[in-house]
Amino acid sequence: MKIDGTKIKKYRKKLKLTIQQLADKVGLSSSAIGMYERGQRTPDLRTIHIFARFFSVEVDYFLVGMTVNQEQIDMSYAANQALERASGICELCGAMAPFNHSNGTPYLETYKIKASEHVAAVCPNCRKKLEILELPGDIIYLQNKINNTHVSASPI
Ligand SMILES: [Zn+2]
Repeated sequence: MKIDGTKIKKYRKKLKLTIQQLADKVGLSSSAIGMYERGQRTPDLRTIHIFARFFSVEVDYFLVGMTVNQEQIDMSYAANQALERASGICELCGAMAPFNHSNGTPYLETYKIKASEHVAAVCPNCRKKLEILELPGDIIYLQNKINNTHVSASPI
């Protein structure tokens, strides 16, 4: 299993982050990230887990030979937007994230709402509930919440 660190750049660009901004968010040095992106150094599995978690993608996408398509990159972007929007509060039950990542950011999971391009940021309990029960009421609630946030967040 070989890791291709140059793929980090694709996700970073989509999120419109500089290397320094990404470094601050994931708690790694910008020089290390620069070397991964240029293929001068290969991140170890533990490090790639940090990136996979931050970009809300599977670790598999960083393996050599695994192609990253636009859809996955867009999904990563939507997941990051959801986490920013939620800012540590579950979008379904309203509870605070159960704990923080080691870099201090609240731990929430992302849930892709079926048949839509929307992603919600929810606590691990709600994530499981959504996955197992797929209650229409929960889905509608999240959809409305995301739509309303979009409207109220618009500056114009
Ligand atoms: Zn919740």
